[in-house]
Amino acid sequence: MAQLIELVLLPHEREDQSLLLEKAARQTGLRPDQISHLEILKSSLDARSRQPVFRVRVEVFGPGEVFTPRAAILDGFRPVDGKKKVLIVGAGPAGYFAALELLELGIQPIVLDRGKDVQLRRRDLKAIQQYGEVNPNSNYCFGEGGAGTYSDGKLYTRSLKRGNVQKALQLLVEHGAKSDILSEAHPHIGSNKLPGVVQNIRQTILQYGGEVHFEQCVTDFILNDGKILGVRTQTTKPEISPSQEWFADAVILATGHSARDIYRLLYAKGIRIEAKPFALGVRVEHPQPLIDSIQYKQNQRSDELPAAAIAWYVR
Ligand SMILES: Cc1cc2nc3c(=O)[nH]c(=O)nc-3n(C[C@H](O)[C@H](O)[C@H](O)COP(=O)(O)OP(=O)(O)OC[C@H]3O[C@@H](n4cnc5c(N)ncnc54)[C@H](O)[C@@H]3O)c2cc1C
Repeated sequence: MAQLIELVLLPHEREDQSLLLEKAARQTGLRPDQISHLEILKSSLDARSRQPVFRVRVEVFGPGEVFTPRAAILDGFRPVDGKKKVLIVGAGPAGYFAALELLELGIQPIVLDRGKDVQLRRRDLKAIQQYGEVNPNSNYCFGEGGAGTYSDGKLYTRSLKRGNVQKALQLLVEHGAKSDILSEAHPHIGSNKLPGVVQNIRQTILQYGGEVHFEQCVTDFILNDGKILGVRTQTTKPEISPSQEWFADAVILATGHSARDIYRLLYAKGIRIEAKPFALGVRVEHPQPLIDSIQYKQNQRSDELPAAAIAWYVR
């Protein structure tokens, strides 16, 4: 059976594969040439002492032990037949991951979003920055990818109760994120990559028979006897009729924090909603060298160390 060990590496040692092999051999009692594969499971930076170190959890495969790479989740996807369909309102992370889950179950997802696709959305962000013009349906909150699309895509969560985090990370890798997010203790995708990953998820949805429709704002629910049959949308696209009805076996509302109109609609329809505790986002900016010097206890960060992260916990 493969051995599980923890290696403690200085920052400059982390990328040195032969050193990694040597250290793993020393710790497992094997010779380097007896190690057939090293699988990095977790890597975290420990900056508690004056000399920051990386603690790397590694699975070491010795003689006769075969490492079997994990099968791609997408390999299990098959085109859906459309007999069962679900409307998903919102093309943010919740909506797109719900769509992937439905595809896996053989159910057709039909995603509706009030905003534009991730590329066209950029133009509306530019209009906000340059001219102060806000498109109410395509902005920092609304549009493909949802609210955090143009952030650096931090993926760290302390919640272990909300489903399979590793599967979500794996799906992001299969859509273009770097594979180190699978082992980094504080993974992030990077603002330059995130829109591409979002676009690739849309391609998967379309490839397996799902649908994605932009500039379709849900303005009403079609209800019968307490059961939801579908939704009504308004579109701003001039070439399409302004109002449309969509029917499906079920509806998933994945409209995020900012869709106040949806809260009002739910309330007006007498559908039970529950207030969450008040959440307030605050952006605090500090010079990076200050954070580096506090976290790493050094005047200047060496090249092998990543820019230090800051976490605020307000109680
Ligand atoms: C600037 C910023 C940076 C962030 N950075 C990070 C980060 O680094 N890491 C992290 O984990 N989280 C981050 N977040 C938080 C993260 O973006 C949200 O937790 C996440 O987007 C919530 O996903 P969601 O799918 O539930 O909702 P949303 O992302 O809000 O998506 C909802 C979608 O529904 C659509 N919609 C709304 N109403 C309707 C309607 N009536 N009809 C049709 N479509 C509708 C919207 O257009 C939108 O695309 C950030 C948020 C912001 C604003």
